[in-house]
Amino acid sequence: LDLKKEDLNKLADLGQGNGGSVEKVEHTPTGTIMAKKIVLIDAKSSVRKQILRELQIMHECQSEYIISCYGSFLAEPNICICMEYMNKGSFDSICRKIGAIDIQVACLVAHAVLEGLCYLYDAHRIIHRDIKPSNILLNSDGQIKLCDFGVSGELINSIANTFVGTSIYMSPERIQGAEYSVKSDIWSLGITLIEIATGRFPFCDDLSDDEDNLSDLDEEYAQALAEANKTPTHRDSFALSAKKKKDKRQSRRKSKGGLEQYMQKTTQQGMSGADQLNSMSIIELMHQIVREPAPRLEGDKYDEEAQEFVDACLAKNPDERHGPKTLLEYRWMDDARDSTFDLQAWTQTF
Ligand code: ADP
Ligand code: MG
Repeated sequence: LDLKKEDLNKLADLGQGNGGSVEKVEHTPTGTIMAKKIVLIDAKSSVRKQILRELQIMHECQSEYIISCYGSFLAEPNICICMEYMNKGSFDSICRKIGAIDIQVACLVAHAVLEGLCYLYDAHRIIHRDIKPSNILLNSDGQIKLCDFGVSGELINSIANTFVGTSIYMSPERIQGAEYSVKSDIWSLGITLIEIATGRFPFCDDLSDDEDNLSDLDEEYAQALAEANKTPTHRDSFALSAKKKKDKRQSRRKSKGGLEQYMQKTTQQGMSGADQLNSMSIIELMHQIVREPAPRLEGDKYDEEAQEFVDACLAKNPDERHGPKTLLEYRWMDDARDSTFDLQAWTQTF
């Protein structure tokens, strides 16, 4: 498909994220409905061409668990990526609409994500790098698919946003500067599953009110996080906010939405002084992920198989955490394969 900017007619906004925005569009020559992702990049033209070459891999991805891609093109200063439109949206928006989702649905989500991760890695040696509810999409055929995986290293480097690569779903080892591995995606899956099954992000409520808790928050730590993301502006902002820890009361009790919104804001405007103060909460959250025991899927309504699976995803030590292949052998994933849950019918309920 030869995609041209002028052939795409915008129908609606689908949302904004950490690296750009997404629109529902119609490709008028063919009548195809697509999701067009617009990413503002900061790169030379040679790099832009390299990014487009790297995005080619997306066309070669053929799996029922991966969003298909129609094509990508440059629309200076943006790169546009046109992908399959998923008419039931992402799991974060579904949760916003209906609250906690049925554990049987969460089970199918876990299974689809693992299959998707296995496909990306086995067929293309790609690590996803950004597993979270908003990158897991649903359509009214009851299909669950992954989007926004890290196909292009150059694209990741060029996105004009200091917080790219920083996510509240990030694993403890990533926060501490380790290279990305498929195990980090598994951690993010564990957090995602707790969030969608309970309807709330597992860390926020207890973002501590305890003054002493921050006493060990130091610049060294901020540096480690920045190193992990290899962006100087990022490091500066963290170091700066670390210095301002005395003013931290102002950034207390950030909701998960608040944190994500904050990260998006930095995309669009760069950082103001107030924003730098707010980034305290992010550091505090990162600290908690590293320091505290992993969250669990607690409560009688979750069966043992589900809890066992989530515990395995959230092993804090990546050496003790299984990869997607092994996790597919867990009992809970047998439940997914044997499931008689009618996902297609479920999509009609909201
Ligand atoms: P994020 O994933 O951080 O929310 P994005 O810019 O990747 O930010 O996406 C913004 C929103 O657009 C997502 O939350 C999702 O709800 C929606 N979206 C993204 N891709 C698609 C798609 N292919 N089909 C339908 N909705 C989509
Ligand atoms: Mg996304």
